[in-house]
Amino acid sequence: MAVMTEPRHGRFGDFGGRYVPESLIPACAAVEEAFRSAWSDPLFRAHLDGLLVSYAGRPTPLTPALNLSTQLGITLLLKREDLAHTGSHKINNVLGQALLAGRMGKTRLIAETGAGQHGVAVATAAALLGLRATVYMGSRDIERQQLNVFRMELLGAEVIPVTSGSRTLKDATNEAMRAWVADTDDAHFLLGSVGGPHPYPWMVRELQSVIGDEARQQCDSVPDVVVACVGGGSNAAGTFAGFVDTTARLIGVEAAGGAAITNGAPGVVHGSRSLVLQDAEGQIAEAESIAAGLDYPGVGPEHAYLSSLGRAEYRTVGDAEVVEAIGRLARAEGIICALESAHAVAWVLRAAGTPDLPAGSRVVLTLSGRGDKDMATLRGGVA
Ligand SMILES: *Cc1c(COP(=O)(O)O)cnc(C)c1O
Repeated sequence: MAVMTEPRHGRFGDFGGRYVPESLIPACAAVEEAFRSAWSDPLFRAHLDGLLVSYAGRPTPLTPALNLSTQLGITLLLKREDLAHTGSHKINNVLGQALLAGRMGKTRLIAETGAGQHGVAVATAAALLGLRATVYMGSRDIERQQLNVFRMELLGAEVIPVTSGSRTLKDATNEAMRAWVADTDDAHFLLGSVGGPHPYPWMVRELQSVIGDEARQQCDSVPDVVVACVGGGSNAAGTFAGFVDTTARLIGVEAAGGAAITNGAPGVVHGSRSLVLQDAEGQIAEAESIAAGLDYPGVGPEHAYLSSLGRAEYRTVGDAEVVEAIGRLARAEGIICALESAHAVAWVLRAAGTPDLPAGSRVVLTLSGRGDKDMATLRGGVA
């Protein structure tokens, strides 16, 4: 199978698939058909591209990190998703799926959110396009991310607290899928990353590939290394898609406490087979990361596949290195990035000058989001 093309029957090697209740199979098939038709329709593509430019602020710049490059003895180029509207790459996927929902005649968006970044992007697109939005969020995350709850409500979305299980993203995703079962006629389930049942991993990667396509065009020559953080894996998948057919090494950086590729085992979660953190009984384990966006026990199936092929490599970094990396980037370049994005920065800081990232390397790093949402966490000295 060609790498990072459309997966056949929704399978990426041994991973992917559509493991959902019988009642959701037709709904997933309808999304698949609608997306395939939309994605090959020049009018849909022009409409989406127009919004990405005039509303979301694309293309985002590729900024040379000149000071850090000098300090590290490499050439570091930052793909600035932190400058996209709503503060992260999430808007790329959300605008695409919200337009698709309208094209399918849906009037309501249902979404899950962890830290609230995806929920805010969904509430934003719903406001723009005249759709209703219902966002499921774990009650523990609601306590931790009150500002994003306020944002979503200000934008007109309904935020529904989820009190089951660990009261975080995993549980919110379960509830969002349940809500979709109850309202497949009117609602589109707008999943925020490259997980879930087919066609979501493929569709979300395609919608995020604008990151990699732009970065490739913005580089004078093919970089040696392309690096991005991996939670569910959407900003990394979108970035990798622009370079997978080149000689560039692809590096995904996981949170040490949520490293599904590095420490997980094959299993099914939220509708697809991938690598999942599990306990000895095969129960899904809790993730634990300072970055709420990486605090998830699973990972998109295409990353499991790219890892199995050896085409992409995955590394982990811990919370303390991440906090250190945010400060180092801020002081060297005047850019305060999100805790999630700082995982990729932390790996570069650690690896530069070692055999993993030799001196002189040209590196493209996707800065998936801005750090505003994380100031309370950092001020609290949480590390
Ligand atoms: C949600 C989020 C992530 C993690 O999601 P991916 O699907 O792995 O990209 C990373 N960075 C930021 C800023 C986020 O908001």
